[in-house]
Amino acid sequence: MKFFLRKVFRLLLVLVFILLCIIIVKTVTFSSKQNQTASISPITVDPQAKNRFAQALRAATVSYPSRIDTAMFVELLEHIDSNYLLVDSLLEKERINDFSLIYKWPGKNAKLKPVLLMGHTDVVPVEETSKGSWTEAPFSGIIKNDEIWGRGTLDDKLNVFGVLEAIEALLKTNYQPNRTLYLAFGHDEEVGGTHGAQAQVAWFQQRGIDFEYILDEGSIILEEALPGLTAPVALVGVGEKGYATLTLSVNLEQGGHSSMPPQATAIGILAKALTTLEANPFPARIDGATQELFEYTGPEMDLPYKAIFANLWLFKPLLTKQLSKAPTSNAVLRTTTAITMIRGGIRDNVLPTTAAAKINFRILPGETVETVMAYLRETINDERVIVSQGEGEGFASNPSKLSSTNSFGYNVIQNTIQELFPAAVVAPSLVIAGTDSRHYEMLSDNIFRFTPMQLSKRDLKRIHGINEKISVANYEQVIRFYQQLINNSCK
Ligand SMILES: [Zn+2]
Repeated sequence: MKFFLRKVFRLLLVLVFILLCIIIVKTVTFSSKQNQTASISPITVDPQAKNRFAQALRAATVSYPSRIDTAMFVELLEHIDSNYLLVDSLLEKERINDFSLIYKWPGKNAKLKPVLLMGHTDVVPVEETSKGSWTEAPFSGIIKNDEIWGRGTLDDKLNVFGVLEAIEALLKTNYQPNRTLYLAFGHDEEVGGTHGAQAQVAWFQQRGIDFEYILDEGSIILEEALPGLTAPVALVGVGEKGYATLTLSVNLEQGGHSSMPPQATAIGILAKALTTLEANPFPARIDGATQELFEYTGPEMDLPYKAIFANLWLFKPLLTKQLSKAPTSNAVLRTTTAITMIRGGIRDNVLPTTAAAKINFRILPGETVETVMAYLRETINDERVIVSQGEGEGFASNPSKLSSTNSFGYNVIQNTIQELFPAAVVAPSLVIAGTDSRHYEMLSDNIFRFTPMQLSKRDLKRIHGINEKISVANYEQVIRFYQQLINNSCK
């Protein structure tokens, strides 16, 4: 017996040793995916650029679901035409549905496929109740202590005006691109892009134009993004999650008097379905863009994190459990379930025959609106609960395709980031919010979603939130990024 135990113990030791060897070898050979790119000396930015940006913020181009504030968009477009004179006179311009813009900057070499830079001029409203919480009024466009204040500074006027500044500056030097460059600025991104992006896509399709790559707003350069990594991470979105709001409803033939309630009521059945869904989240997956994120950031991490990410074959279950705990990381692992509305009952002493709830889903690539509905029916497993995608529930979209990191577009974006933000680690990622670029899938296989600004996690809540502002230094980097990106892409 003693002999046998000793043998088992020895075998265990050998196994642990082998396991350790594999972990060490995998960690040591977990090599960097950053390009060998040297930083460049900063391009000089026109000191007036920040004032032109501040002026653009004073036009309250708010998107509403069923109307448009025409005067504000007219003001913004006039501001563009009267301040970017070379863009206005030297580029070809189209207006789509009055307020969305397309520009074409023809390249010298017609054989090169064009590149498209996107952005949107509309902004989300400022809640009446939160107006008092702003330090500077949301549409004041004030510059104070080297910060530019206002709704739209982070989403998404910085991209629109960053591109315009970059091109105006290049035109001043008589720069001529080899590759044709298009710009597309939508005016209703925040409400789905029906009149802007979708109409712009139709315009390109009618002319048979498709793109080498497309760059739209998206993820950012985030400080303290991941454990074990002191460097900021430049998150380049290679895909985005889908979006759907579904209704759960219970319709009983009889309600009845609340003095003689049946065993199951409409509200009770619905409530049980909802708690079942919250208790059974969609399965978590580390694959696609999220796996790539770890493949790009892992090699730059300190130990022991580097070892963990180098050995996902072993640590995936542990990591999945850990990442599921925080809402921000949970959102890139699975389709998320957010119960947002509930309705049922008309009087305190009448049993309602109907009850309904709305749930908002952000769908992980690999799943669809249909598979989400099937998962709901299977999980709830109660025929009295109807799952439907009703009218008036806003737009629904399936997750986007994933763009390849082995492409000209990804490479040129990565190089440009490394040139201008040498401290950052560049990595592909999944965008959890929606962008206009999801409408462009038939126009390019290579769609990237990245906004070249560096923020801390604390600053993130200013996007669509209170006290939206950007530092002048950050805005000037946006302009430099686009200048260099055009240089690198169109030579
Ligand atoms: Zn946006």
